[in-house]
Amino acid sequence: MIERATRYTKDVQDFLERVHHATNIEILEHMQKTYADVSVTTVHRITSRLVERGKLALAPAAKGNAMRFDINVEPHDHFLCSNCDMLRDTDIASEIRPLLEDSIGDGCEISGNLVVTGLCKKCNKELKNETNHH
Ligand SMILES: [Zn+2]
Ligand SMILES: [Zn+2]
Repeated sequence: MIERATRYTKDVQDFLERVHHATNIEILEHMQKTYADVSVTTVHRITSRLVERGKLALAPAAKGNAMRFDINVEPHDHFLCSNCDMLRDTDIASEIRPLLEDSIGDGCEISGNLVVTGLCKKCNKELKNETNHH
């Protein structure tokens, strides 16, 4: 039993190394390709434990407010596609933060990580094509 749990945990970590961010449901769908009997409870237990051990961080939530995990545990900013929910690691240059604070005004100070939303390359292209066709 211990051996299987270890294998599952390794599989979750390998999957996240590849995709960088994923929800429990996305992890479950991936796991079930190899282990048909894996349940969402098992995945939930594995990801919770990895977060506790500092092996996974919490990324900005996915659509429907689903918890999303991040293999990159260092503080970083994100780009979020508002169409397909794709999340991409980015680091907004420290020179930009004072500019943002200036435009926000009133002495407000930015703290923590930033999430910039927009359209990813794929969605941008798809939406443009759609407009051309109609
Ligand atoms: Zn997109
Ligand atoms: Zn990230």
